[in-house]
Amino acid sequence: MNKQHIVIIGGGFAGVNLSRSLANSPYYHITLVDRNNYNFFPPLIYQVASSYLQISNVTLPFRTLFKKQHNLDFLMGELERVDPANKTVYLSSGKLQYDKLVIAAGTDTNFFGNENLKKYALCMKNLDDALYMKKCLLNNFELAASATNEDEIRERLTILIAGGGPSGVELSGIMAEYNNTLFAHDFRSLAQRGFRLDIHLVDGSTSLLKAMSEKAQTTALKALEKAGVQVHFKKRVQDYNGQEVFLDTGEVIRARQLVWTTGVTVKTIEGFNEEIYGGGNRLLVDAYNRLIGYEDIYAIGDICLQKSDENYPDGHPQLAQVAIQQGKNLAKNLVNITKGKTLHPFSYYDKGTMAIVGKSIAVADLPKPKWSFSGFFAWLLWLFIHLMFLVSYRNRIRTFFEWMASYFSKDKPFRYIIDESKKINQ
Ligand SMILES: Cc1cc2nc3c(=O)[nH]c(=O)nc-3n(C[C@H](O)[C@H](O)[C@H](O)COP(=O)(O)OP(=O)(O)OC[C@H]3O[C@@H](n4cnc5c(N)ncnc54)[C@H](O)[C@@H]3O)c2cc1C
Repeated sequence: MNKQHIVIIGGGFAGVNLSRSLANSPYYHITLVDRNNYNFFPPLIYQVASSYLQISNVTLPFRTLFKKQHNLDFLMGELERVDPANKTVYLSSGKLQYDKLVIAAGTDTNFFGNENLKKYALCMKNLDDALYMKKCLLNNFELAASATNEDEIRERLTILIAGGGPSGVELSGIMAEYNNTLFAHDFRSLAQRGFRLDIHLVDGSTSLLKAMSEKAQTTALKALEKAGVQVHFKKRVQDYNGQEVFLDTGEVIRARQLVWTTGVTVKTIEGFNEEIYGGGNRLLVDAYNRLIGYEDIYAIGDICLQKSDENYPDGHPQLAQVAIQQGKNLAKNLVNITKGKTLHPFSYYDKGTMAIVGKSIAVADLPKPKWSFSGFFAWLLWLFIHLMFLVSYRNRIRTFFEWMASYFSKDKPFRYIIDESKKINQ
């Protein structure tokens, strides 16, 4: 049988679930393209940034992940341009002809056009960001220990986190925990002089975790405040020069580390019409994830905007479950196309939302039955669910071990400052 060639751009939740669901399909041969040679698990990269987990806990090389999938080749490369008329994609590493093209490249950090934020702020979108953040945080703590000027020490120990969504909340919680458990032992000379990490969480609205229930929002706020995080509502970061954070209220907070978790956007792809971009620059798709106005091109996951689902007329939230379910649904439809069967429109099944807000405490909202709960049980459930969604058994076992070791030893073992800035010879 002559197999059709599917090119999938992006091996995140959406691309990997589509690829796996078409494993050993007699109808398709897949080329999976990603700019990295590994798959990673975004919900846990903040634990890499804060030295809780290692890179190997949350990543797996694509060539390992798909070593048993014989209808799939992996190619490392960055998407540069699409030529729909000639069914060709141009990559940083060459070009590919396709019968069907699926774009699952996710999103990028949105700095809303502010070049200073882009230059100086730390972000948390991918593993490179997490490793860089870890290096900056640890480096600042070490420099604070050797500094003599008290203002400089304070600045180096101040962390301002912009954005009260799950990423901002989880990072604030874990840094506060560090302050309350390790800092006094590890940086004795600073602690004895009364210095500690000063953690600020800034959000433009009046609550944290806006997508969650009021109960979850209140619990999260209480837990963070109790842990010592200073939460600022109705304030937005306007600018940053690497040392001073300028808020829209006129306040200036001196901090050597600003973490930017406030928004995402989609990079424009050369070769598509402007009309294909909707809110957040997301690619507009129909109920079957077909790119509107294009034949044989699909988009799934965070990168697409689908308004056909009656429960989500403004599009789906950018969550892992949406990406996973869209990947699986598209796989079914691609098989149905070859068999001449009816296609299934995508409909998102919400399995609930969770966030960890401190040591042994998480908040959780379940949709059916509608139930909002928090505390130790929610925290255990959070750990279990995140373990289960890691991509391999090896990562699950290792991560479980690291979590248990950190929990009982109260340590963050991976606090190495490693310079990875040397360029590879091309
Ligand atoms: C810090 C953080 C925490 C999160 N926590 C949660 C959570 O707790 N729960 C939850 O449900 N969701 C969470 N999310 C959101 C969730 O991770 C996303 O919704 C999900 O990853 C989307 O999957 P995706 O496959 O569309 O994109 P991604 O997972 O982003 O994958 C995109 C892939 O495309 C590749 N790529 C990008 N551009 C190119 C290019 N030009 N060429 C080639 N390859 C490219 C990337 O390397 C990546 O592998 C979190 C996100 C972040 C950043």
